[in-house]
Amino acid sequence: MSNVSLEDIVSLCKRRGFIYQGSEVYGGLAGTWDYGPLGVTLKRNIMQLWWKMFVDDLDDMYGVDAAILMNQKVWQASGHTETFTDPLVECSNCHGRFRADKIDTSKCPTCGMKGAFGEPRQFNMMFRTHVGPVQDDNSVSYLRPETAQGIFTNYKNVMDSFYPDMPFGIAQQGKAFRNEISPRDFVFRSREFEQMEIEYFVHPDQWEDAFELWRNRVHNWFKALGLPADKLHELEVPQDDLAHYSKRTIDFEFDYPHGRDEILGMAYRTNFDLNNIQRASGKNMEYRPKDGGEAFVPHVIEPSFGVERAIMAVLVAAYTVDELHGEKRTLLKLPKHLAPVRCAVSPLLKNKPELVDKAREVYANLKKEFGNVMWDDNGNIGKRYRRQDEIGTPYCVTIDFQTLEDSTVTVRDRDTAEQKRVAIAELLPALA
Ligand code: ATP
Repeated sequence: MSNVSLEDIVSLCKRRGFIYQGSEVYGGLAGTWDYGPLGVTLKRNIMQLWWKMFVDDLDDMYGVDAAILMNQKVWQASGHTETFTDPLVECSNCHGRFRADKIDTSKCPTCGMKGAFGEPRQFNMMFRTHVGPVQDDNSVSYLRPETAQGIFTNYKNVMDSFYPDMPFGIAQQGKAFRNEISPRDFVFRSREFEQMEIEYFVHPDQWEDAFELWRNRVHNWFKALGLPADKLHELEVPQDDLAHYSKRTIDFEFDYPHGRDEILGMAYRTNFDLNNIQRASGKNMEYRPKDGGEAFVPHVIEPSFGVERAIMAVLVAAYTVDELHGEKRTLLKLPKHLAPVRCAVSPLLKNKPELVDKAREVYANLKKEFGNVMWDDNGNIGKRYRRQDEIGTPYCVTIDFQTLEDSTVTVRDRDTAEQKRVAIAELLPALA
């Protein structure tokens, strides 16, 4: 299991400006979270890394960004209006509401009352809304509960614009909304969250190869996030538990502070979704091979990544407490490419204009190169280092009196706390 507690992560996130409770000034809104200045950068770094690995760096991937509000027919055809439900039970004593498949229903987890639950009722998790001024059945829409349908509905558009060879994939990142019965475990189970999904279209004969290909790519993704292999697990969903359209599903799990739980899922969804769209829209979803082979409705491999669950895993893996000069210190050992602050720049003393001027010059140059560079002249240098350690800044650059003589600065490494002198001219490669 994880050696860091959920409280440690939540409190660091709030204190240092990563993640705040949504609508906090008004007492909050359950299942919603706001990203602060450091959190938004960490989140973007993770999402951009994903886009680079799975869209930019591959030859057969296309990106899309579909609308969150979609025609209600999308969710009727996909089965969501009928079956996107969780079993809800309510305690007859304290009226607490729970997901029946997540608790022991013999007694209420809140008040302890035995036999307080009746039969579960199927609760649809989609947020329903209306488009336009008239609220009737025809104006119903939903906040999308997954980004995947925005990919399927654009499959034909991408085909017609690019006529790609098979196999090829379409990727999308964006918000998804689920009215979870009991949001919990910090951002792990939220009502508004972000997904990064891929539909990889293949000939049905090729699904097994494509499944292995993406399974390996998922592991590369975990490596790029700096997640230790011994905290990651593959749960092969048993045949009996598979959705009727799925031939194989792997839930990838991570050891979170609250226990081992799903970080992302990967499913072979056959041609279930494109067939549904073909049936409901009357439009042809077939792929016509360029070599004149027989047309077919492509099958898909769907790796489905959750951004919040990736962020939480990254924070848990990075959270470290060690001892430095006889004192306890907390640091985030974030991979350099994910750290919200690439490096911090400080003048040794803030009341010496010659040091401050030189430090400002170094800061401006680094900021031009990296963007996420922080100016830090608060408190003494030791305190500054500790503050930067706690938010995962890989390097601190300090300008001191020797800088004025020989144009070298001190570069201090977060993980080892070692300091070395580096010529200003050599700084960029030293921090890269
Ligand atoms: P769970 O069983 O935990 O409810 P799920 O199997 O319903 O999840 P999927 O529908 O497979 O989840 O969604 C794909 C991914 O989206 C999940 O692996 C997860 O990373 C993310 N995700 C799903 N629901 C939530 C949520 N409520 N909050 C945050 N992320 C979520």
